[in-house]
Amino acid sequence: MHQNRSSLLPCLIAVALPLVGCGRAHPAADLVIVHGRVWTVDRAHPEAEALAVVGSRIVAIGSDSEIRSWTGPSTQVIDAQGKTVLPGFNDAHVHFTSGGNEISGVQLRDAATPKEFANRIGEHAKKLNKGEWITGGTWDHELWGGTPLPSHHWVDAVTLDNPVFVTRYDGHMAMANGLAMKLAGITRATRDPAGGTIVRDPQGNPTGLMKDAAMDLIALGIPTETEEQLLRDAHAAMNEARRNGVTTIQDISSAEDVRAYQTLEKRGELTLRIYCITPLPQWEAPARTGIRAGFGDEWIHLGALKGFADGSLGSTTAMFDQPYNDAPNTSGIPNAMMLPEGNMLKMALGADKAGLQLAVHAIGDNANATMLDIYEQIEKQNGARPDRRWRIEHAQHLRPGDFDRLAKLGVIASVQPYHAIDDGRWAEKRIGHERCKTTYAFKTLLDHGVRLAFGSDWTVAPLSPLLGIYAAVTRATLDGKNPGGWFPEQKLTVAQAVEAFTLGSAYAEFRETEKGSLTPGKLADVVILNGDLFSISPEKIKESAVSYTIVGGKVVYRPGRR
Ligand SMILES: [Zn+2]
Repeated sequence: MHQNRSSLLPCLIAVALPLVGCGRAHPAADLVIVHGRVWTVDRAHPEAEALAVVGSRIVAIGSDSEIRSWTGPSTQVIDAQGKTVLPGFNDAHVHFTSGGNEISGVQLRDAATPKEFANRIGEHAKKLNKGEWITGGTWDHELWGGTPLPSHHWVDAVTLDNPVFVTRYDGHMAMANGLAMKLAGITRATRDPAGGTIVRDPQGNPTGLMKDAAMDLIALGIPTETEEQLLRDAHAAMNEARRNGVTTIQDISSAEDVRAYQTLEKRGELTLRIYCITPLPQWEAPARTGIRAGFGDEWIHLGALKGFADGSLGSTTAMFDQPYNDAPNTSGIPNAMMLPEGNMLKMALGADKAGLQLAVHAIGDNANATMLDIYEQIEKQNGARPDRRWRIEHAQHLRPGDFDRLAKLGVIASVQPYHAIDDGRWAEKRIGHERCKTTYAFKTLLDHGVRLAFGSDWTVAPLSPLLGIYAAVTRATLDGKNPGGWFPEQKLTVAQAVEAFTLGSAYAEFRETEKGSLTPGKLADVVILNGDLFSISPEKIKESAVSYTIVGGKVVYRPGRR
């Protein structure tokens, strides 16, 4: 639970700061927002018209007339013109620097045909120096209807000098060109690694397509980015985040990312706050240093560990109890971190004992159940402890009996609503109607008392909380085939979706007393929209946009300005 400190704090602030005149028991605000439809996400005071900020914190919230007393000669006043004012969005699951990198790389996400896919790669190659890699892309072969997965033959003629390794948008398969395979030494004699597949043609020759762990055969040979490149990526990504009202990200970070973020903080260039979620297999490094979940300052903190239990639905690698309807020879493959048997439990036990937070990717019903078994096992072996805040990233397909287990263990469902309207186009073909009933089951999760933390999973989906809210509220699939909602009983209200993208995700990063609601004492991370989210029809939410993004009391974004 978050505490409501609104009645206490103005007095505390008044004591702590110099008084301005005798009649006024508090200083003038640095920033005041008036005439807003303020939705605070603070259950004690859900609605207001105005708020005041001193320094980086909210000091008062109330009616226009109540907040007017905070206005002094040097106060910046923003007139919200009756539009929605919300806590800044907190995206609980992003791949931030790869997002920034993709903004400037080859764009394949909307390549509608294999020909376009190949053309765009060829065009991009012309802009590069000899030997430079073409990566990213985030292609989606589901757009190509019935066409087989991409093959190196499609692009080899136009990429003779540039190795290519372009990824499907879910990150669970990628296509290498001939040169990339040559550099990695992959031939028809190369065997599939554990937890991965080298796709082959009927003659047994690799097609260039690598699934899950097989991706490493190529990926490990790609030169890592320099810090200079990473800083450029992070700036491109922050630009995208400001535009979308994102004031905190929870980032799946590499050590290089963590270093780059520190450089940005030192230079005063951060325009959002970052919770760094680092790789679970390296849990001993933070553990040995004595770092616990949530360690850091108000800009950067860390102590969560990202693991993987399985693959993805789109790549037919998510682990299910029963085989796929459209691929009856498989029910998915466990991630390499699950192997050998007991490996995940061993890492998770050690990390938990050290006070680190576990955030493990699980998509299929079997993978989710296995992770819940592991969390139960940890409770048995390491003992009960409040506030572990275990997370399952995606929690996409659940056994009907597992909702209660999530609630009982206090596991946070770190979910991405946009995936529901994206995968909803074809999920039933893959796993059938019955299993889809407990797929992206956000309402059932809430009904069971499970905490939701919303995120985008950018670059898998757009970095847009408003699109995520639209998805959770309408469940209208991207193909327009379910205007009334795909499994409409799982729709959320706007208020529930907003809470999951603010307070819910703040809870998931141990920061719900600092942000996630517009409450006096909390950080002044605020967004103002260009409309009234609560009165427009749900299908219009996707046309909404951000008019102001405010981080720590500073305006970091206005449309048309940088
Ligand atoms: Zn992800």
